[in-house]
Amino acid sequence: MSDATVERLVLEDRHGRVARDLRVSLTDRCNLRCVYCMPEDGLAWLPEPDSLGDDEVVRLLRIAVERLGIEEVRFTGGEPLLRRSLERIIAAAASLRTSGGSAPELSLTTNGLGLDKRAAGLRAAGLDRVNISLDAVEPARYAAISRRDRLGDVLAGIEAAIREGLSPVKINTVVMRGVNEDQVVPLVRFALSGGYQLRFIEQMPLGPRHTWKRADLVSADEIRALLATVFDLRPVGRDTAAAPAALWQVDGDGLPGGSVGLIASVSEPFCSSCDRTRVTSDGKVRTCLFARTETDLLGPMRAGARDDEIAAIWAGAMWDKPAGHGIGSDGFEPPERTMSAIGG
Ligand code: SAM
Ligand code: SF4
Repeated sequence: MSDATVERLVLEDRHGRVARDLRVSLTDRCNLRCVYCMPEDGLAWLPEPDSLGDDEVVRLLRIAVERLGIEEVRFTGGEPLLRRSLERIIAAAASLRTSGGSAPELSLTTNGLGLDKRAAGLRAAGLDRVNISLDAVEPARYAAISRRDRLGDVLAGIEAAIREGLSPVKINTVVMRGVNEDQVVPLVRFALSGGYQLRFIEQMPLGPRHTWKRADLVSADEIRALLATVFDLRPVGRDTAAAPAALWQVDGDGLPGGSVGLIASVSEPFCSSCDRTRVTSDGKVRTCLFARTETDLLGPMRAGARDDEIAAIWAGAMWDKPAGHGIGSDGFEPPERTMSAIGG
């Protein structure tokens, strides 16, 4: 179909927000078992036939970019590097064009395992940048949190990302009380010396059941106070109005200065400026990480729905996006699926 005949919709919701940023989960499986995300024994993985195949992922990406106004795509999981065809999917995504005629911005959220061997290929396929998760720089602590002794592999992945120009390389850290608060300052030192953009994320109730307590939250404010004991901090706003991280310029301690982000998903939710839509690895639209309902796209696709019909289902689902996640409100219930099954 020529571009002139494609009917364009936007993913607008009843609260006036428009989604431009798509998070696609490429698998619910993972080779780590981070304590805040997965139980030690893993989860019941989705059966292969119920998951999006490569052509189905690419078709949804085409619909999102060409018909629904998506400008940024982030691949996630589970662990997206476990998808062998990741390079092929990224190359197909890089060939798409938004209504403005540019390729969508493509990024990857990964635990970094195996990235050292794949960074060059991913870059060549069209990947723009990566976020790598790292919750400690001390090997035993890293192993305790991720339940795997793999810090060396992650560090090799981070170096490869820098080498291949997958920048800015962002490092994501979830801070947990009594677990890795003492890693906060060493992580900042590591990031400033390597030129990585570190972002601290408040722990959300999206892990194994009953492992999250509001009273235990290490808030963004608390992390900032901790940093202020060692560094000079200056607020520098956000990258964009919809960006979740509040950025702080961090100087001192004899290190090159740089910016550190604080993502206050729980203590200061940014739902009113949220511009995201999500698709799980079994082809369900989720309007929010905390949504308690999902809208199936895989079934209609396999039943022969046309692209305009899939786009209309997706747009209809987004219209009902809730105003906010309501973590702080009475009666809040976390969703059935946990983070790795949704796609963080
Ligand atoms: N496996 C990849 C990784 O770890 O980067 C991608 C998927 S993971 C679910 C995406 C992000 O979600 C990671 O940065 C991880 O730290 C974060 N995450 C997982 N569970 C979380 C939770 N309960 N609260 C806050 N962030 C969480
Ligand atoms: Fe795996 Fe990422 Fe969850 Fe850790 S946070 S268990 S790496 S999906």
